Amino acid sequence: MDFALAPEQEEFRKTVRAFAEEVVAPRAEAMDRAEELDEAVLDQMAGMGLFGLPFPERYGGMGADYLTLCLAIEELARVDSSVAITLEAAVGLGAAPIYRFGSEEQRQRWLRPLASGEQIGAFGLTEPGGGSDAGALRTRARLAGGQWVVDGAKAFITNAGLRRSGLVTVAAVTGERPDGRGEISNVIVPAGTPGYQVGRTYSKIGWHASDTRELVFEDCRVPEENLVGERGAGLANFLRTLEEGRIAVAALATGLCQGCVDECVKYARERHAFGQPIASFQAVAFKIADMEMCAHTARLAYQQAAARLVAGQPFSKEAAIAKLYGSEAAVACAREAVQVHGGYGYINEFPVARFYRDAKVLEIGEGTSEVMRILISRALGIDS
Ligand SMILES: Cc1cc2nc3c(=O)[nH]c(=O)nc-3n(C[C@H](O)[C@H](O)[C@H](O)COP(=O)(O)OP(=O)(O)OC[C@H]3O[C@@H](n4cnc5c(N)ncnc54)[C@H](O)[C@@H]3O)c2cc1C
Repeated sequence: MDFALAPEQEEFRKTVRAFAEEVVAPRAEAMDRAEELDEAVLDQMAGMGLFGLPFPERYGGMGADYLTLCLAIEELARVDSSVAITLEAAVGLGAAPIYRFGSEEQRQRWLRPLASGEQIGAFGLTEPGGGSDAGALRTRARLAGGQWVVDGAKAFITNAGLRRSGLVTVAAVTGERPDGRGEISNVIVPAGTPGYQVGRTYSKIGWHASDTRELVFEDCRVPEENLVGERGAGLANFLRTLEEGRIAVAALATGLCQGCVDECVKYARERHAFGQPIASFQAVAFKIADMEMCAHTARLAYQQAAARLVAGQPFSKEAAIAKLYGSEAAVACAREAVQVHGGYGYINEFPVARFYRDAKVLEIGEGTSEVMRILISRALGIDS
C-alpha cells in the first residue's frame, strides 16, 4: 500500500495552499459579510485551471484526476468553505454530468467553457418538496415540436446565480416507466433561457459567500438535443454524480477540520491565562489533538475513496463513509475550535466562528448523514 501522494500532486497541493493563504484567506471575512464571492478570486482560480482539473485537455481541462481536485478543495476549505464549495459544485456537480454522460458534441459545446472557468454550471436535482427522496420529482419536461418544455421548481441550487453561471442541468420527469414510476431525464437549461427564473439568494446559517438559489421553470423551452445521457437514465446518472461528489465534500470537510487545528494551534500558543499559554492546559491541548485525529482520519477516508474511483474500483460505500465521517468530524472540530478561542471564538472576525457556521451544512448537502447511514447499511446487506 502506498499512502504518499505523487510528487506532482504534492507540488500542486502546495500551490493551492499558497493561493488559499495569500489570496483567499485575506478576503474570506469580507466575502462572508458581503454574502458574495469576489469575482477576482474566481478569475484566479480559473487561471490556475481549477475548474477543469479532472477533465481531459481536449475539453480544455487539466488532465489531472479526481484526487487532485479533492486536494484543491481541501486546501481551499482550510481557509474558506464558500470558495471550496463553489469549486466542488462547479466541477463535481455542474460540469461532471456533461463530461460523464454528455455526447461528444455536448462536451465540446458546454464542457469547454465550464472547464476554463469562463462559465460555471449548476446541478438541479433537489426540489422544494424534497431532496433525499430524489425519485419523487415534480419538475416535468415534455417534448413539443423538437423542444423540451420544462415546468417546475428546484430548491437550494448552488452556483446558478453567479455572473458567470452558464447553465443548469435539470432532472425532470419526462414520462412514465412501465412500473408506474416517473421516467427521469436530465436536460441542460442555459442561463437566460426565457421561462427560466433564478430566485434570490437564500439567507443561510453559513456558506454565506456561496451562491444558493431557488429556480423556477415556466414553459421553459430548450432544444431536444439538450438531453444529457439517455432518456430515462437521469436519476441513475445524477445519483452516480452525487456519489463522486461525496468524496469531494469529504475533502472539503477535511479541510475545515485542518483549518480548525491550525487556527487553534496558533491561538492556543498566543493566548495566555493564569500566566501561561492556554496550550499548556491539557484540557485545551487534548481538544486540539482530537481535531488533528479527525483531520487525519477524514483525509485517509476521502483519499482512499478517491483512489478507488480513480482506479475504476467500486467506491460507493467508501464515499459514503468518507462523507459521513468527515462531515460529522467537521461539525465536532468547529464546535471545539470555538471553545478553544473562548469569547473571541464567537466573534465573526475570527475564522473559527465562520468555520462553526459553515460546518453544519456538510451533514445535509449531497446526501444527509441519515442517507449516508442508509447507504452504508445497505452495502452491508442490512436494509432498514
Ligand atoms: C447550501 C445548500 C446547497 C445545496 N446545493 C444543492 C445543489 O447544488 N443541487 C441540488 O440538487 N441540491 C442542493 N442542495 C440540496 C441538498 O442536497 C438537500 O438539502 C439534501 O439532499 C436533503 O434534502 P432535503 O433538504 O429535501 O431534506 P429531506 O429529504 O426533506 O430530509 C429531512 C430530514 O429527514 C431525513 N430523512 C429523509 N428521508 C429519510 C429516510 N429514508 N430515512 C431516515 N431519514 C430520512 C433527512 O436525513 C433529514 O434529516 C443544497 C442544500 C443546501 C442546504
